[in-house]
Amino acid sequence: MRSPAEARVDLDAIAHNIALLRERAGGAAVMAMVKAEAYGHGLAPAARAALAGGATWLGVAKVAEALRLRAEGVAGVPILVCIGVPGEPYGELIAQDVDVTAGSAVLLAEVAAAARAAGRPARVHLKADTGMSRGGAGPADWPALVDAALAAEAEGTVRVAGIMSHLACADEPEHPANDAQHKVFTELLAHAERAGLRPEVRHLANSAAILTRPDAHYDLVRPGIATYGLTPVPQIGGFGLRPAMTLAAETALVKRVPAGSGVSYGHTYTTEAETTLAVVPAGYGDGVPRHGSNLLEVLAGGRRRRIAGRVCMDQFVIDLGDDRLAAGEEVLLFGPGDRGEPTAQDWADALGTISYEVVTRIGPRVPRVYTGRLAAAERGEGNGDGRQA
Ligand SMILES: *Cc1c(COP(=O)(O)O)cnc(C)c1O
Repeated sequence: MRSPAEARVDLDAIAHNIALLRERAGGAAVMAMVKAEAYGHGLAPAARAALAGGATWLGVAKVAEALRLRAEGVAGVPILVCIGVPGEPYGELIAQDVDVTAGSAVLLAEVAAAARAAGRPARVHLKADTGMSRGGAGPADWPALVDAALAAEAEGTVRVAGIMSHLACADEPEHPANDAQHKVFTELLAHAERAGLRPEVRHLANSAAILTRPDAHYDLVRPGIATYGLTPVPQIGGFGLRPAMTLAAETALVKRVPAGSGVSYGHTYTTEAETTLAVVPAGYGDGVPRHGSNLLEVLAGGRRRRIAGRVCMDQFVIDLGDDRLAAGEEVLLFGPGDRGEPTAQDWADALGTISYEVVTRIGPRVPRVYTGRLAAAERGEGNGDGRQA
């Protein structure tokens, strides 16, 4: 290992997950959601792995993410920026063939103006607020958005490529909001179609809805967390998804200390007897939550050990008791779980959060090391398990 801590990303797992989701989605196309650095997995490599697995669209949250994908050579595939924000460089997005989302007539007008200046129509997905009360036009504002879109289409500045919405409670399949939102989406779609819009794709489903709501797949599905092998509904199951990320570190130092030694800032952990401590060089500056002090487990020397004392910015300590471990030996913080290490879901459960946050917060200081056959192919090599920081 060249770096004291690294995030190994199995690109074959991403391709596997997309293939699995594609099958679950029946005939719907798959837009792999690669926002936020592909949930921490690395934007362009994860995007290419998803395309290898059968995704035919990519989705991001921010304009800069879409432009980076294009700059890093991801071409010939539609990319959608899912959040519409005023003041973005829409001309550049149009020039780079990036689809944009508009959830208001005001934003649509801004996009149309950029298209007029660019001399080329913008591809727009109209966003309906079907009950999440976040982005998008609600039923009261929907007719005005549809009318504005029809006028812009007539003018040649906008092509309505899609109509979309987003579910608030898909991770609770029994929640009544799912049916309610689905019904509103159907009504708003019907209105748009009656008015004369002919979107290429209608889309609603995130990972949870792909796996639990076959009636909500429409033409296109938008898996995020499941792309990376983490289940959106841990209470239901893992669905054969393969977690792609393993967070690993090498012990920096192993030493014996006497009974009664206070460990790390604030001495929130004290050794009960003479014991062996190991220092692990990953901290909250790398995305190990400080909230996980004295709480999170890692795999070291073949056993689960709890973090002893506070997580520091750059390191934390584990108590090995009388077990032996050399400096430089591998510690697995989380991963698929097949070697006995915790999963990102285990960390999320301990922290009272969701696996999304665990993987997404792994910071830029941690090199991503791509593994698997796809990683080797990307480097033009014959076998997997290579490195690319
Ligand atoms: C992030 C996002 C998704 C993916 O959600 P998951 O729960 O991670 O599958 C889908 N659609 C939109 C609009 C998103 O922003």
